[in-house]
Amino acid sequence: MENVRLLSKYDIKRAINTVITKYNCDELITNEYFDFVRKELDVHAVNFSFVEDVFPSKYRLAPDRESKSRVAKAIMDYAKNHDDPFIATPFRYLKDMIEYGRAMYDTCATWKVIFVQADGSVIIPCYRFDAPENRMSMLEHSIDEIYRHRGWEITDRCNECESFSCVWYLSQNPLNIADAYIRGLISLIKYFAISRIKIKGC
Ligand code: SF4
Repeated sequence: MENVRLLSKYDIKRAINTVITKYNCDELITNEYFDFVRKELDVHAVNFSFVEDVFPSKYRLAPDRESKSRVAKAIMDYAKNHDDPFIATPFRYLKDMIEYGRAMYDTCATWKVIFVQADGSVIIPCYRFDAPENRMSMLEHSIDEIYRHRGWEITDRCNECESFSCVWYLSQNPLNIADAYIRGLISLIKYFAISRIKIKGC
């Protein structure tokens, strides 16, 4: 948080990506979170993703189904009535959480980006299928060769990721994320209009 305050002090553009877990649901439902980032951190744009409990562990972070729905509804209600902080999360993602408790998509499109590991290898198609036969090194293979790996076919039928907003984004029709861009533009126009009125008022 000190580092975020430093960004503010030097007027460097900043936004926060917040991961929603069972430990921060309440502050979102009460809107305390929004007051905090705006007033205490001087941050005016936020984005949300629900945590995904990927691997079996006794430590579960994901909120239960009802909490997910309540949090998503609270965020959407806030976004409809406030510009500050601006909420960049597409409403379709939040609606999926409200209606289904998970991100909805027909087929995963994680092939649209490839994640290169520190040793230069790419896991095909994703972390969940990590195995020696599903890794190809970018140091030894061209991108074309990597894309010819049969492991990418897994994405045609896989629907495992329930909350990752990145997987959700990649798998969407662009129209489903357009609202976030349009709301962002409107918010910017309002911001500049108000700034001009204030300057004229001075
Ligand atoms: S939906 Fe399946 S293929 Fe896509 S990222 Fe998740 S686990 Fe991997």
